Amino acid sequence: MPLSSSSSLRAVTVLAVLCAGAGAQTSKEPFARDPKQPVDTFYTDRILHYTTAPSFLSPLVSYLPASNSVPTPEKVLGDVAGAPDMLPYAEDVHRYFRMLADSTPRVRVYSIGKSEEGREMIAVAVADESLLAGAEENKQRLAQLADPRSLRTKDGGTDDAKAQGLIDSSYPVYYITGSIHSTETGAPTALMELAYRLAVDDSPYIQYIRTHMIVLITPVVEVDGRDRMVDIYRWHKAHPGEQWPKLSYWGHYVGHDNNRDAMAMTLNLTNNVLSTYLDWHAQVLHDLHESVPYLYDNTVGDGPYNAWIDPTLVEEWQELGWNNVAQMQKFGMPGVFTHGNFDTWSPGYLMFLAAMHNGISRLYETFGNGGADTEKRILQPEEYSRTWYRQNPPLPVVMWSQRDNNNYEETALLSTLSYFAQNSHHFLENFYAKSKRSVEKPENEGPAAYVLPTDSAETNRQVQLMEVLQRQHVELSRLTEAVSTTLPPEKPGDKPAAAALPAGSFVVRMDQPYSRIADALLDHQYWAPDDPQKHPYDDTGWSFSELFDVKVLRVTDAAILRAKMSRVEDVSSLAGNLEGSGTVVAIANTGQSTLLPLLYKLKDAQVTIAEKPFDAEGKHFDSGSLLITGVAEPELTAVLKELALDGTRLTATPTVAAHVAPRPRIAMMHSWLLTQTEGWWRYAFDHAGIPYQYISTQTVSAESELRNQYDVIVFAPIDHASTADVLNGTPLYGNPLPWEKTELTPNLGGLDNTADTRPGLGYDGLQHLRKFVAQGGLLITCEDTAEFAIDTGLAPGVTVAPRKDARVAGTVLNTAFVASEHPVAWGFAAAPLPVISAEGLAFNISNMQEPPNNRMLADPYAIRPTGRGSLDDSDAVQGEKPVTPEVLPRQQPWEAKALDEDQTRNNPLVIPAQFRPEVILRFSDSRAMLLSGLLDKQESIAEHAIVVDAHLGAGNVLLFANNPIYRGETVGSYPLVFNAIMNFQYLEREVPTGDNTSAAR
Ligand SMILES: [Zn+2]
Repeated sequence: MPLSSSSSLRAVTVLAVLCAGAGAQTSKEPFARDPKQPVDTFYTDRILHYTTAPSFLSPLVSYLPASNSVPTPEKVLGDVAGAPDMLPYAEDVHRYFRMLADSTPRVRVYSIGKSEEGREMIAVAVADESLLAGAEENKQRLAQLADPRSLRTKDGGTDDAKAQGLIDSSYPVYYITGSIHSTETGAPTALMELAYRLAVDDSPYIQYIRTHMIVLITPVVEVDGRDRMVDIYRWHKAHPGEQWPKLSYWGHYVGHDNNRDAMAMTLNLTNNVLSTYLDWHAQVLHDLHESVPYLYDNTVGDGPYNAWIDPTLVEEWQELGWNNVAQMQKFGMPGVFTHGNFDTWSPGYLMFLAAMHNGISRLYETFGNGGADTEKRILQPEEYSRTWYRQNPPLPVVMWSQRDNNNYEETALLSTLSYFAQNSHHFLENFYAKSKRSVEKPENEGPAAYVLPTDSAETNRQVQLMEVLQRQHVELSRLTEAVSTTLPPEKPGDKPAAAALPAGSFVVRMDQPYSRIADALLDHQYWAPDDPQKHPYDDTGWSFSELFDVKVLRVTDAAILRAKMSRVEDVSSLAGNLEGSGTVVAIANTGQSTLLPLLYKLKDAQVTIAEKPFDAEGKHFDSGSLLITGVAEPELTAVLKELALDGTRLTATPTVAAHVAPRPRIAMMHSWLLTQTEGWWRYAFDHAGIPYQYISTQTVSAESELRNQYDVIVFAPIDHASTADVLNGTPLYGNPLPWEKTELTPNLGGLDNTADTRPGLGYDGLQHLRKFVAQGGLLITCEDTAEFAIDTGLAPGVTVAPRKDARVAGTVLNTAFVASEHPVAWGFAAAPLPVISAEGLAFNISNMQEPPNNRMLADPYAIRPTGRGSLDDSDAVQGEKPVTPEVLPRQQPWEAKALDEDQTRNNPLVIPAQFRPEVILRFSDSRAMLLSGLLDKQESIAEHAIVVDAHLGAGNVLLFANNPIYRGETVGSYPLVFNAIMNFQYLEREVPTGDNTSAAR
């Protein structure tokens, strides 16, 4: 959308030539422009005008070649790419690429899918017309290089000579993605201009690129977030002198974490990019970001590097990263570096889809102003200091424009594309070698396969884990015969263990092209506490076998690959079975994440929840199993299949204590401070089909009768919000910051809206929440919102356990159930449940309302005082007859300290027995605690509580120290939340008989 008329711009005639030789490059440099090709002088002049310093320009972008037939970005933008004061919407960006495609055979546009909100994503191919004409044949050739099984010879080898022929006749595909992060605004216009240059420029430098490779471009990855960001920028330009709203929502579910989805692949954008990348069999996925001055090519990054990548990739990173810095140095552009503070451990980043699928992952961080304003930017010493890897650092103070950003982005991309084109043969050889080694994994480093043994209790979670693998384009198989194999010893010195794998077990073969991603997801991670990298950039552990709570065997004996097995194409067909005959259908609770949605989908059925285990039809059913009547078979089987649940028909209703399953009225309450972490909860609820009202803390502040409307309020994590933040929101000094759909901002609102995002929950809201719980509601809290519940007295007897110097960094940790009879624990069979912990939050509980760390909890003489004798002995006071102390039972770290008669007498702080908090889940002991990632000095949190049911009035506050619903990765712990919701009326504290420490009775 043109934001200013081009005719008025053309009137500007003051045109300082910033770069010597701009527009008339005459040197012998390889990037010299073609002097015979005319220059678009208007456009060129604007480039120079908007560039704020000569060194922020290069001979590659200091002019724009003119074309009679191909439109420049000005046609859509009304100004040049990177011009101040305007940002194009995604559809305007797309419109420009379609204009390009209509005007030149060197550009083609492909629709690659839709966002959650229905906005289109595109991929644009740019290359010489002869390459694009042969693009399909090129894909076929690359497909064979990508899957060397297609080149098998009769003797089982691989036909390398044929591969060489394919390499010789193919050209590589380099995939560039822009604007995944919506506040990083420069990439779309830089990519518009880049495509124009690649298609139009006749300089030998550019010609060589377009005749030797296909450049593939997705200019806007996060299309929903881009449109909202443009709205915010328009609001800002329409309200000069005012503060402008921050981008409360980017995509439909998450913001910045859209770049952490490359493992679970929950978001449409991740799936659309991977499908495009694999469809073209691209060699590179290069993702564009903005944050660091002026260009951090984190292709080299920092250690530790991911442990599952091919070593060739590491060499490619070094080669491309250092070469790119050298090229930029040649242009004299300051502030370019490739080593920096970003470890390359987690495979969660979008670019890493390539690293895990035999390609090359790359990422630029350029400098941006969060919009198109030209601004004075003041850097911090760590940003402008000269270091060994950044000899020509950024300037401490600079006037920075979006055009500067576009100059850096385009120059770096063009110079790296040139290098890639010059070495296309070499990179295709590497591509083939990496693909081949992925298939050869079983013979080389191993393992041979991962096996998920058949287990009806795990089917639901197995299906969900295998759906992730299928989204990663991993092939799955199923044993058609029983197999015995040996498993490698768990530690050196142990004997290999025999394992019997029943027919029907699922096999993830490692002799397939995309074995690396399966290996990386299913294996365990270990981050050494003494690793030189002291600041993990993201999670250090992610093992999906643990987080999906699925038994996965790492099989190294390659004999498994010769067992009889068949390919599994349709994973969803693996569950949904209904056996037996009778009118009552029982669904065993085995920790499936889809029991709660069943209640809403079968809304006319009678469903009861068994409160105790029972046996029927030769099967065992645990507490929490469902008994269903009154639903027709076709409807039931369809729902069971959709939810990956198996059912058993019973001839009679079993005699077991049961309660009618309610269909709780759920509210998901968000804070306007941040919406991302709770966005993953919304994703999980939506994906499962659990209905809820989406409200904010401001809604609760204004609504005093919450219990009339809701049974459960979910207050998912905000992300390091303090209690004061939750209550007070954002300070009210300036102007209101709206989030509303208006003519000016058509893409805001929608999910939720408010005239002012600043006010928080407030003390009225807190009072309303307290009343809601006291009247029998369930409030679910997690991480910072659990701390909020503790701080505000909503969780009597719960405190945060002092972490001391324990180190946890997105670590997968082991737990133990404490109250396996509690409804929240139903279905888990008291087996340890792996959880992810962000930073090692844990709880202490007490039978008194007392400040944390007071003397009662931390009696220094609790074990024994200094004195005579040994540890287990007693002291003796000289000259007195010994008196035996009244010793209370010593509590475990997860237990409340028992109170004696003296401590409870006339003590208003003592919590009546029925209101004392109950610990449901705790960390395991410190030796068994680590499953994946970094863990150090964990003694202070080992065995402490992580899931607690606190009782307040007639209701409950459930507190999670782990995040049970996180990034689509923690399917194993979803049922902790869903069980609580399903049984919200049945969470009262059962007071143990003989409890005489209660002050109330
Ligand atoms: Zn970013």
